Amino acid sequence: MGAEATYEIIDPRFHGLFNGNARLDHLYSGCRWAEGPAWFAAGRYLVWSDIPNDRQLRYDETDGGVSVFRAPANYSNGNTIDRQGRQVTCEHGARRVTRTEHDGTITVIADRFDGKRLNSPNDVVVKSDDSIWFTDPTYGIDSDYEGHKSESEIGRSNVYRVDPNGTISAVITDMVKPNGLAFTPDESQLYVADTGRTHGADNPAHIRLFNVKGKKVSGGKVFAEPTAGLFDGFRLDEDGRIWTSDGPGVSCYDPDGTLIGRINVPEGVANVCFGGFKRNRLYICGTTSLYAIYLMVNGLKTY
Ligand code: MG
Repeated sequence: MGAEATYEIIDPRFHGLFNGNARLDHLYSGCRWAEGPAWFAAGRYLVWSDIPNDRQLRYDETDGGVSVFRAPANYSNGNTIDRQGRQVTCEHGARRVTRTEHDGTITVIADRFDGKRLNSPNDVVVKSDDSIWFTDPTYGIDSDYEGHKSESEIGRSNVYRVDPNGTISAVITDMVKPNGLAFTPDESQLYVADTGRTHGADNPAHIRLFNVKGKKVSGGKVFAEPTAGLFDGFRLDEDGRIWTSDGPGVSCYDPDGTLIGRINVPEGVANVCFGGFKRNRLYICGTTSLYAIYLMVNGLKTY
């Protein structure tokens, strides 16, 4: 189950971030499009989405077992855990963002903007002030493969913030297909991937960096361009490095924007998530499979 991991050291700063003896663990196969990993620290399990199969799966760290967590799952995509330890989920099929409460009931966080249905929420993060930020490209309504084919009512793919009182605001409106997103450790900046390239060769394929001050979002310079594929989902480590999906592997960027290293994976990677008791195991959603690898760094603590 462990394949020798292949690392590419692109910048000397990547030395010391990985353990050369660590294996790339192949934990599960049988997905069609694995996405949306989220680590439940208290339960010692990882939940992720298998979008075309309309289900969520759960990997149990204690015994390595994988079981179906939720099916149907409204073609869920991105998941995260909020500051209170509750699951927050983007649902392509129901075109909404939901929270699974501690008692298991589901609360709708957002399903409309300006009276119009959302496209198909893709990925989500929760800020320390309990505001919920999510991207809303059209992948879940472009075809019946990842949701239900339909027209966009909004006509744009925006990034939204939902305040704790339920108010929804469009905070970034100039992206083509906003996708993965994550705050810097001090939450003063927000990284957002744009996978617009899927809808045209001249469209963007990059991560942008926005400034966040209170409710004001500004800036948006291009932070990085992928070298192997497209940036979809990503997470940060404690030191603010970005570990991102990028074709068949995970690319690691220093906060200054330099690509410093890469972990090669046998399949295209859609998203990653730090987990384990010390948050030093990187879980990798790679098309049909769930992989994991222990690193010498710890994921940013977000709850
Ligand atoms: Mg995504």
